[in-house]
Amino acid sequence: MKWLTRWLGGRPPAPIDSALWHAQVSRIDGAEALSPPGMRRWRELTARFLSDKAITPAAGCELSDGDRLLVAMLCCAPVRDLGYEWLRGWHEVIVYPGSFGVRRQHLDEDTGVLHEWDDELAGECWEQGPVILSLEDCVQAAEAPEPGYQVVVHEIAHKLDLLDGRLDGVPPLPDAGWRRRWIADFQHAFDALQREVDVGREPRIDPYACESPDEFYAVVSEYHFTDPELLAEAMPEVAEHLARFYHPPGTDS
Ligand SMILES: [Zn+2]
Repeated sequence: MKWLTRWLGGRPPAPIDSALWHAQVSRIDGAEALSPPGMRRWRELTARFLSDKAITPAAGCELSDGDRLLVAMLCCAPVRDLGYEWLRGWHEVIVYPGSFGVRRQHLDEDTGVLHEWDDELAGECWEQGPVILSLEDCVQAAEAPEPGYQVVVHEIAHKLDLLDGRLDGVPPLPDAGWRRRWIADFQHAFDALQREVDVGREPRIDPYACESPDEFYAVVSEYHFTDPELLAEAMPEVAEHLARFYHPPGTDS
């Protein structure tokens, strides 16, 4: 509520230049099929996003106004039917030109050995910090989306998951009954996927989802937005929860 008051009391965000907006809409695969109300909500959210959050280039990344807008649009798209308050609690997107290397560390408490390794990432999000994205992967997600792979959806899903302070694969849900059913259905699908991987079968859903419940939620969210039919066939209960969560009744996009 405090957040809402601040929004209502604050300055309205600067409007987005129409030519720039339409240029990016035509760049994002499938965006032109959006309903007029859905498009309006998306544009309002994106304007708020641009006035509220910093988009910071890193590692020599060159961001045109169009790229900047594209990144903001992709970040807002998953919450188009939920509302801007779902993007609260963080203030920056850091954009690398391509996938970026990060140094990982893990201290094995039993042996006292510190393991270190390098990861190549297309995106990352910090618990109380920025979302980090690769511009190359953002452009690919927009222009040539691959079923089941959408780095911005993945990172925003982690941010939604974190809104209740726990990274556990469950975003804040309006009632306890739904939360219980969500956890049971997701656990069931998670276990089934893990069993397929264990017996050496090629699962239809990216086995990276088996890393943890939070990665599972982020990965199935990618399918929800890029290949909902496949998700509905492979994991019907999960698909239903996501449809209900991302598109509350009364929204049509
Ligand atoms: Zn992840």
